[in-house]
Amino acid sequence: MINLYPLPYYNERKLPINMLVIHSMAHNAAEGIKQLETLKLSVHYVIDYDGRIFQCVSEDKRAWHAGVSYWRKITDINSCSIGIEVCHRSLGQSKFNQKQIKSLIDLSRDIINRYHIAPTMIVGHSDIAPKRKPDPGKDFPWRELAANNIGIWFGSRFSSENDIIKMLSDIGYDTEDEISIKASSYAFCRRFLSGKIKKRPVRKVLEHPFDDEDENLLKDKEFIKTLQNVHYQYLMYEKNGL
Ligand SMILES: [Zn+2]
Repeated sequence: MINLYPLPYYNERKLPINMLVIHSMAHNAAEGIKQLETLKLSVHYVIDYDGRIFQCVSEDKRAWHAGVSYWRKITDINSCSIGIEVCHRSLGQSKFNQKQIKSLIDLSRDIINRYHIAPTMIVGHSDIAPKRKPDPGKDFPWRELAANNIGIWFGSRFSSENDIIKMLSDIGYDTEDEISIKASSYAFCRRFLSGKIKKRPVRKVLEHPFDDEDENLLKDKEFIKTLQNVHYQYLMYEKNGL
């Protein structure tokens, strides 16, 4: 069952729907939606701690959740995406409640089927805004979602590519300049290699959720191997539709 909690902040889409963006917010649904209202923002769905789903904006409208963002050359992500907020007290720094994940899986599957969203187009907010956003967080269960056909995880095969920038860019990340490359690498780890994530999203780093002093990540062998793993999977999808 979906509860309605309408927000007035939306406009008309300029692109067809082909993406799903997952967020987390450090509030319960009622507080979180109030906060969106105060900030004149919105999102299509909010999943509360207990798995209840609230809808704030109709799917055919352009909700205001992604902000300045980039994925696979698309910059107006609000126009082509459906946004889901998952309530989580520590902003994805600890396990999510199974009831929420079940609701999220059911809702996402329904959206993906209705709009034929490709697994390569299912992202977290930090994937599309890596310089600004840490959500849905390092403990968000991407692997479990992929096991339910939501998004891509990696297997045991590796791409033969060695160029980090090319791999990040092929997957979808922004690699426009040096800072984007660092931020995207960090976002990649938050999603696929969370053991590398040291920076917690406390309030003062919310708008700067990566370590730009860290020169080591781009040379880290485990990072490069995982990137080759994930890159292989994205290329396979492009080639064969998995
Ligand atoms: Zn977000």
